[in-house]
Amino acid sequence: MSIRLQGIGMTSSRTRERMLLRLQKQGIIDERVLDAMRHIPRHIFVDEALASRAYEDSALPIGYAQTISRPFTVAKMTEILLSSQPHSVLEIGTGSGYQTAILATTIDHVYTVERIFSLQQRARERVAELGLRNVRFKHDDGQTGWVQHAPYDAILVAAASPEIPAALLQQLAINGRLIMPTGEGTHQVLSLVVRTSDGFEQQNLSTASFVPLVHGVKR
Ligand code: SAH
Repeated sequence: MSIRLQGIGMTSSRTRERMLLRLQKQGIIDERVLDAMRHIPRHIFVDEALASRAYEDSALPIGYAQTISRPFTVAKMTEILLSSQPHSVLEIGTGSGYQTAILATTIDHVYTVERIFSLQQRARERVAELGLRNVRFKHDDGQTGWVQHAPYDAILVAAASPEIPAALLQQLAINGRLIMPTGEGTHQVLSLVVRTSDGFEQQNLSTASFVPLVHGVKR
């Protein structure tokens, strides 16, 4: 891989192992998730100035007032979605592309939508650099989903909104799972919705702290 990876190589594999041990202590048990997080270098998804902090359990800035999600959040959301053995996933809020890469390592088909074009371009480059070819990117307002490839076995939304957008519920397959932070400001919960043959079942899993889901697109 690139020179950039060689520079921080040794340090990064050691600190990445520490991140893995921490995730296990935090209760992550799915080997597919742990393997993906062992395999995907999180430091290439943040600016070089922040690379040494990439394996800490914290969100970090990625520009445009957005953040790369905390490793535990990425692991937990992926683990919850994988429990129903999905073949396809729609992600809203590509951001840095780190969650996208973890999904692409564990699920056959990944569709990801980002409203900020520059973030999307960088995420696309990083995912390509890792040789992951099962990801389709779209620059759009993800609140309308991506109807062309629906229904999805899993939907992951990485930004919070008071209501779950109706289009996303419509694009969820029967027995599919949607995970999304709901609420406003600091009053957020991580919600899980399961689509059944006769409706939707929603439960709140934990408190959450995500950036807001925003209307419209930006260059
Ligand atoms: N999982 C990403 C999270 C990035 S933060 C990561 O770890 O890097 C959430 C992202 O959602 C931001 O990039 C933001 O621009 C995007 N976003 C917010 N509202 C959106 C919308 N309506 N449609 C698509 N993306 C949106």
